[in-house]
Amino acid sequence: MTAQVIDGKLLADQIRAEVALKVQERVKAGKSRPGLATVLVGENPASQSYVKSKQKACAEVGIESFGFDLPASASQQEVEKLVADLNRDPKVNGILVQLPLPTGLDEESVLSLISLAKDVDGFHPVNIGRLAQKGREPLFVPCTPAGVMYMLEKQRPSLEGVNAVVLGRSNIVGMPVALLLIRANATVTVCHSRTRNLPEVVRQADVLVAAVGRAEMVKGSWIKPGAVVIDVGINRVEDASKPRGYRLVGDVAYKEAAEVAGAITPVPGGVGPMTIAMLLRNTLHAAELTDKGVS
Ligand code: NDP
Repeated sequence: MTAQVIDGKLLADQIRAEVALKVQERVKAGKSRPGLATVLVGENPASQSYVKSKQKACAEVGIESFGFDLPASASQQEVEKLVADLNRDPKVNGILVQLPLPTGLDEESVLSLISLAKDVDGFHPVNIGRLAQKGREPLFVPCTPAGVMYMLEKQRPSLEGVNAVVLGRSNIVGMPVALLLIRANATVTVCHSRTRNLPEVVRQADVLVAAVGRAEMVKGSWIKPGAVVIDVGINRVEDASKPRGYRLVGDVAYKEAAEVAGAITPVPGGVGPMTIAMLLRNTLHAAELTDKGVS
């Protein structure tokens, strides 16, 4: 079997085009232009580059972005004051605090301060708590997990009763993905570094989401024939033939897995582009919440 390739770039472009159109329509109708504030603390080059791409993506769909850069030496109080000011700023619909924060800053305390209706990253403990509770609705779903679900649901419109295996239980990917799969009525197994007989567990998966951060750990022989495989991992491996000296690979050994799976996301060009597309969607949603007076 040769798996169908799930093109994240194409899906993300469609979502961006939808957001751009809706932004245009709301501005034409006299409503406010959605605004996203990015908060970057410190000089982590990866974080700087993520924030830059988010701001560029905003500009492309007509969302205004406001960048706030604080030095790594910023105190807890300074970061929290900035978030409190942004909560009050009517031009700011969404607040994104780029993680990880420098060591010494209390991440949970900062995230808890973001107004629920501006929590476009979906990491506020109340939004995450609602995600975990039956009959409760979070105002926002974290962007990468939302992207994973969007791709899965395009592939399998009903996930009811399927065996889903999630590799990884991080706050930002594995755990929210598992919660979303449970909400979609899948039967979910969450694996982590202490899981025993991992290949055997993975072999039961009709749907596999890999988010471990280990280059090509999941082998083709672990995949159930016909499974849908979503590879969240982004890992650098040395490659002297590349100008940068490295290439990016996922958590799944793509070539061998693609021979067994029914559908699979590539790395790059899979989940990566979906994350920013979902952030744009969440920011538009935040502006719609502001219209309705939700705070
Ligand atoms: P974390 O390091 O926070 O979590 C990794 C998880 O994998 C942990 O739960 C850990 O278990 C588990 N794990 C680690 N090693 C093994 C192993 N050998 N066997 C089984 N489980 C293992 O990573 P993130 O969730 O932040 O990110 C995961 C990957 O996704 C990374 O490659 C990251 O770059 C990528 N990523 C991609 C995004 C995108 O937009 N495409 C966005 C965010 C992340 P334990 O809990 O026991 O430690």
